[in-house]
Amino acid sequence: MTSTARPDIPQGRILIRGAHLLTQDPALGEFVGDVLIDDGVIAEVGTGIDDAGATVIDGADRAVLPGFVDTHRHTWQGAIRQVGTGWDFPKYRQHIQLTWGPQFTPDDVYIGNLVGAIGAIDAGITTLRDESHIQNSPAHTDAAIAALRESGIRAAFAYGWPSIDSDKWMLRGEATHPDDIRRVRSQVLSDDDALVTLQAMLRGPELSTLDVTTQDLAMARELGIRSSMHVGNGPWGPQYRGIGSLGEAGLLGEDLLFIHCCTSDDEELKMLADSGGHASVSAAVEAVLPGLGAPATGRLLANGIRPSLSVDTEASVAGDMFNVMRAALSAQNVGVSIDPASYEFLPAFTPADLLAMATIEGARASGLDHKTGSITPGKAADLIILRLDAANLLPANDIAASIVGAGHPGNIDTVLIAGQVRKYQGRLVGLDLTDIRHRAEASRDRLFSVELVDG
Ligand SMILES: [Zn+2]
Repeated sequence: MTSTARPDIPQGRILIRGAHLLTQDPALGEFVGDVLIDDGVIAEVGTGIDDAGATVIDGADRAVLPGFVDTHRHTWQGAIRQVGTGWDFPKYRQHIQLTWGPQFTPDDVYIGNLVGAIGAIDAGITTLRDESHIQNSPAHTDAAIAALRESGIRAAFAYGWPSIDSDKWMLRGEATHPDDIRRVRSQVLSDDDALVTLQAMLRGPELSTLDVTTQDLAMARELGIRSSMHVGNGPWGPQYRGIGSLGEAGLLGEDLLFIHCCTSDDEELKMLADSGGHASVSAAVEAVLPGLGAPATGRLLANGIRPSLSVDTEASVAGDMFNVMRAALSAQNVGVSIDPASYEFLPAFTPADLLAMATIEGARASGLDHKTGSITPGKAADLIILRLDAANLLPANDIAASIVGAGHPGNIDTVLIAGQVRKYQGRLVGLDLTDIRHRAEASRDRLFSVELVDG
């Protein structure tokens, strides 16, 4: 894996000097200054920091942010990225979850997760909540986790359900969460301080039933892990009221992350806010995949919830947060144009708000804000350095607006995760991309040989 090792990669103590820091820490704000990294941790943030033993990275014409946090991605679909661009939600579900999902081998899961995770790192995403509903066997589960570890990304592996036996596991099936999650908790991901940790991706009241969700939540809380659920999914939102039914049963809590919330009603969003729970807006997927509903960004803000952002699936959209931030802005303003009455009382949001949603709010939603999400001394050194002198950004008239409005993964010069340099001077570090590409192509070719039939 290190056949492309480069001797120039900074290691150990690193001092980023004279960069434009967008810290996402309200006590520090935004300023031109220095960041000292030692032993994987942000040791000091300020101006005029001197450290004779550190390797210096010149921050001139550079912005430094905490790494992006993607709070919901079905990473196993990495090697079939963009195959469903232009599909609607029923078609995505039919082809990818019901037709190809059962065909995935552990090798397919491994390479899908590896391709997804390294693409995320390349795009400046340092923390990934891998919503993994491909637990077709324990070997599939172990392959998904192995690939996340191999990539070097910080990840919450959210253990979902199998993409087999759809009557049992999807389509409002009544099986409770797979017991194998207990094996993973005790034998594979027992360390909550590790780079890859365990969470649960539950089906929730809309994809399963309230009774099943009650049992699944009791299991997750017994294991001491956080849970997520997809809710407000198109017509199922008003039909089953996922957040509302959990609230009425007294089951909401700070440990829960609700994904999409497109058609969750205002009463539900208020219950969510009161519970201290979290939300994830997948604005790009919601915008290009008809059937889910409009991104709830403004409605969440109006009801007192600062959402996180997520890619959801590369089968449909690009795997970077620039695209998601812009989609959140576009979708809200399309709504204002076509339905002004519904949007009249919704708060607007700025590029700076979107950067916060893509970083610190994602860390909070993932229960990882004690580790990541801001440039704060004591947190892990999960940092990204962007080139402001790139052809598409110069002269960077307003740095937050430039990044949100025009940034792309090619602008990410350097990525550090827990102080390890994973991308440097625009290139991923320590990966054999030729080998990874060949394995991704083999997986893709095998899956593509399975015929798709429209449902
Ligand atoms: Zn999803």
